[in-house]
Amino acid sequence: MKISVTHLSAYIYCPRKLYLTLVKRLEEPPKDVLVKGSVRHETYEFINKNDEGIVKNIRDFDFDSIFQVYKQKHSRFLKKSISRNMQRIKKVGLSPSDVFRQAWPLVMAESRSRAELISSFIQKYEVFGDELWDMLTPRIMSEVRLESESLQLKGRVDCLEKYDDEYVPVELKTGQIPKQGVWPSHKIQIGAYALLIEDVLGSNVCKGYVDYLDSASKKRRKIVVNPFLKHEVQELVKRVSDLLRSDHAPPVCKNRNKCLKCGLREHCLK
Ligand code: SF4
Repeated sequence: MKISVTHLSAYIYCPRKLYLTLVKRLEEPPKDVLVKGSVRHETYEFINKNDEGIVKNIRDFDFDSIFQVYKQKHSRFLKKSISRNMQRIKKVGLSPSDVFRQAWPLVMAESRSRAELISSFIQKYEVFGDELWDMLTPRIMSEVRLESESLQLKGRVDCLEKYDDEYVPVELKTGQIPKQGVWPSHKIQIGAYALLIEDVLGSNVCKGYVDYLDSASKKRRKIVVNPFLKHEVQELVKRVSDLLRSDHAPPVCKNRNKCLKCGLREHCLK
């Protein structure tokens, strides 16, 4: 059975939680912070998925007009994401308008940065439509599914940036941002996607990024992909496979802060 990349990062967080979720089929109740995170994450997915259509239809030179187009579309994507998550939003006692208000500055910052990129390209090369899209660097592909028999691994990378001579995986994350670098589980995810890209698309990957969405402006952190990281990922795939075949739950994790925030706490610590 192929191991999913998200299971690798879940294992790093707490092997016991992964076991209880996948083997014992326990479900964590929704939390407001997770619901808000899902809305932002889904909005970014819409933004990436629809970028080609937006770019190909741009007919203006100036930044302000392009920014207006992006703002309008991105606001629609945020509303769509809120509406798709409406039941969960209500279940955790949030108001849809508050969810919109909190997410909007970040989404608008994304509209601005995309408008800046496009307007500078148009002003430099004076191209529109298909030609503009073909020339655009980086080209962003979202939700790219990758699967490898030889690695016994599968996953869906949030965002794949395609440059002339390389692919760069990008993960979108909500939640607390580390003071420096990235959380270990996020590093493993990028390492796993790098392995998958190399195996499936045949292109070397030397770096990846994690975009932390929970701040006034998106924070991008770089991860260098080296042989040590790749080896770590392969070892982890074996450990997760063993865990899923095991009859015994792993011990309670040592970091009690994780347990305090864990939705499976009652079942787990009983
Ligand atoms: S309560 Fe702690 S040990 Fe148990 S699943 Fe949650 S994080 Fe892991």
